[in-house]
Amino acid sequence: MPQKLHKVKTRFAPSPTGFLHIGSARTALFNYLFAKNAEHLGGEGEMILRIEDTDKERSKKEYEDDIIEGLLWLGIGWTGDPSKKLQKKDIGDEINGDIAYQQPYRQSERTDIYKKYLAKMIADGTAYVSKEEPAEAGQRSEVIRLKNQNKKITFHDEIRGDITFDTTELGDFVIAKDPETPLYHLAVVVDDFEMGITHVIRGEDGISNTPRQILIQEAIGAKSPKYAHIPLILAPDKSKLSKRHGAMSINEYRKFGYEKEAMVNFLALMGWSPQSEEGTEKEIYDMEELIPLFDFKKVQKSAAIFNKDKLDSLQNKWFASFNPEERSVKEKGTEFIPLNEMQEKIHESIKSASGYSLKKANDAFASLVYSGGYTYTDTRDKFMSGEIDYIFREPTLDPQKIAWKETPRDKTIEYIKHIEKILATIEQFYNTPIKTALWDYAEKEGRGNILWPMRYALSGQEKSPDPFTLAEILGKEETLRRLKNAEIVLAPH
Ligand code: GLU
Repeated sequence: MPQKLHKVKTRFAPSPTGFLHIGSARTALFNYLFAKNAEHLGGEGEMILRIEDTDKERSKKEYEDDIIEGLLWLGIGWTGDPSKKLQKKDIGDEINGDIAYQQPYRQSERTDIYKKYLAKMIADGTAYVSKEEPAEAGQRSEVIRLKNQNKKITFHDEIRGDITFDTTELGDFVIAKDPETPLYHLAVVVDDFEMGITHVIRGEDGISNTPRQILIQEAIGAKSPKYAHIPLILAPDKSKLSKRHGAMSINEYRKFGYEKEAMVNFLALMGWSPQSEEGTEKEIYDMEELIPLFDFKKVQKSAAIFNKDKLDSLQNKWFASFNPEERSVKEKGTEFIPLNEMQEKIHESIKSASGYSLKKANDAFASLVYSGGYTYTDTRDKFMSGEIDYIFREPTLDPQKIAWKETPRDKTIEYIKHIEKILATIEQFYNTPIKTALWDYAEKEGRGNILWPMRYALSGQEKSPDPFTLAEILGKEETLRRLKNAEIVLAPH
């Protein structure tokens, strides 16, 4: 029986000591989906964004920015500190009804709150000031320690079931360096309590933090939230996911041209499966479909494996599913830009080519995927390897290769001239009208005789997309110019 949850408040609580990588983005997504699912079921649901920057040395603004940028890209909204709004102009608007333009909570701005709790704990005797061995002679140092009740603690994990710890081995652990400087566990517990967090959803590596946090909750009289520890993401060889395996910033994927839909889809399926009732093999889900389906019962206990091929396959499917017209509208504001490496490569390729713009390159990219029968990732690889540089630069033609099989050169020149004549009359210079205009002629003369020289003239390659796609990508003028050039190369000198 699905439990009806009336009020769910989750939190995504990254430490800004690194970029928003695959693992943390998935944690954010699960927190978001769970909160939105409660809303879907008729209750209230929200996800808070809290930047855990108590470690001043390692926390960096650039990481916080990267986290925010990544969440906004993925469409994961949050509620933040209502007193501080992000500059709307910097990051846009609401996402999915959430007030994502609120600044996140930052632990570094909440010291006063922690101080109050510490003072109360000391007054209550649940914590005490402890004099430490001086690190250097002449120094006096004090820390604040929790008075550990040394008992067994059992908590229920929504994914893993009951987990029991004997807290004796934790001793009277340090909760603050001094009354002004709380340590991590204290800040987390105070914040979860103050913010009314109902569910803590975090990576499995958080399990070992839980007993300490429960002891602090008991000390301050806070009710424990529910816990759900989600499986780790490992590399295909079951080692720790490293940069080499794809643990780069989510924003790097964006810059590499991945669609946010593909990324959300991919993240959701890492460690969770919708197990559709019909038993179908459905694997394409967007955020709207994920929200009603999300539930801890379908989160696996074993580690999830990062599978880059799966990401690429989802990317290919998502990209292909966009209707080109819709796409051009969608991209009016942002423009479809295969950024970063691809962008650099394209820049390099078009530098020396006249009449080419990045816009044209991007259109070419999209046309290849939509009508060239290439997948997104194939196309990207071809761009990157220079295999389709002929889009930007006129190819050098080998006169031996222009004619189809044994067809004589003079005959081939005639065919090319006739192709030019037909193409010159086409107004809407797109794949289908071009194909329609040429098809009868190609059937009459033999497809090879017409399509082969055309394709070779346009690409200079023995393997390439079909000539109609090439013509569309190159545009009418360039197509006619290349055909003319093929004629010249073929002509007896
Ligand atoms: N700030 C912690 C981290 O980034 C997560 C804390 C939590 O979810 O409890 O690892």
